[in-house]
Amino acid sequence: MGNAPALTMLLRIPYTTPLPSFPPIPSSATTLATAVTAVSNFLLNSRSTLVLSGAGISVASGLPDYRGPQGTYTLNKEYRPIFYGDFVHKDAMRRRYWARSFLGWRGVEKVRPNRTHVSVGRLWEGGWVGGVITQNVDSLHSISHPDMPITNLHGLLSTLLCLTCRKKFARSPFQQELHRLNPTWSEYLEKMRSTPDLKIKRNPDGDIDVPGVEYEKFRYPPCQECFKNPVYKDQITVDDDGAVESIEGDGNVPGVMKPTLVFFGESLREEVKKEAEQRVDNADSILVLGSSLATYSAWRLVKRAKDQGKKVGIVNLGGVRGEDGFWDDGEGKVAARYHLGDGTDGVRVEFDAGDVLEGVLDVLERIDGRRTTRRTPVAGSGMNRRELELREIEMYAP
Ligand SMILES: [Zn+2]
Repeated sequence: MGNAPALTMLLRIPYTTPLPSFPPIPSSATTLATAVTAVSNFLLNSRSTLVLSGAGISVASGLPDYRGPQGTYTLNKEYRPIFYGDFVHKDAMRRRYWARSFLGWRGVEKVRPNRTHVSVGRLWEGGWVGGVITQNVDSLHSISHPDMPITNLHGLLSTLLCLTCRKKFARSPFQQELHRLNPTWSEYLEKMRSTPDLKIKRNPDGDIDVPGVEYEKFRYPPCQECFKNPVYKDQITVDDDGAVESIEGDGNVPGVMKPTLVFFGESLREEVKKEAEQRVDNADSILVLGSSLATYSAWRLVKRAKDQGKKVGIVNLGGVRGEDGFWDDGEGKVAARYHLGDGTDGVRVEFDAGDVLEGVLDVLERIDGRRTTRRTPVAGSGMNRRELELREIEMYAP
């Protein structure tokens, strides 16, 4: 159809039709025990496995998935995320975004890695996995194992970037600034804290829906670097407290800060895209955990691996986008080497990734004799989110 390459890399809202389940590969992998065996064979017979993780693995940490097991939107059918173009060009949309994000941040800040993040990190420690590409923006792989090579395909909630001067900011101090500029909202947040059963719908990118509030009154600061820059003196005006009154500009509005997470309608950063591709190219197998690959940016990495003749493994509850193509060796059906195999050439199982990986670690440690640290999910690496934010800022090259 001739889509321009630049357009195809825009992050789009995943389509909503349910994805059909897929028969297990190998066909013997119908129980948790046989699935564990198959995934163990897959990892033991790979030189370097790259993990590609999705929202499914953060559900156990309390973060919602976009989709339920059948690939449908179970969370919040009315949810309409803010689009990149609206955020960049419309002050009212930025107020709306920051209001919701302000309220949602506390929930994101307190989530901890779960056993799946811990198991992935242990697989890396044991040398069975070379690193991770994640679609998740929650930093949980990094909190669990800060030294593991991680590509944050869709950016991070915890790092902000000025779209004009490209200066990076940590989220926690920015949140404090939002508290200062929005005392009424700050009180509301306090009320939320003390009323656990207050009905709140939280969305995967960290914002929440609050009925009956005026988002347009929410106040946010401009990028201080740009505000101080005489070039933008007439374009950025603030009130006595330093909150944005208006930001003007034709086309390029100066001093707008945005989380580095990729918004819908926004392109992936070229460096991140390249890094992810490089890591696929350097691996000899790819293992998908907790993702239906509904976003094109993730699906195409698995397709890339497949096209290079690499091995594909998928552990996901529910269907995966276009997955019959991963098992078809050109004859229009699942090739015999997959469904009759033992998992070595490819694996597709529908079990919880946490259950599977814990079993797999037991097998691998027994067979390979390599011991890995058993960190509890709650403790994680011991690194707190603020330390991590500073680290992530360093790692994020503008
Ligand atoms: Zn700036």
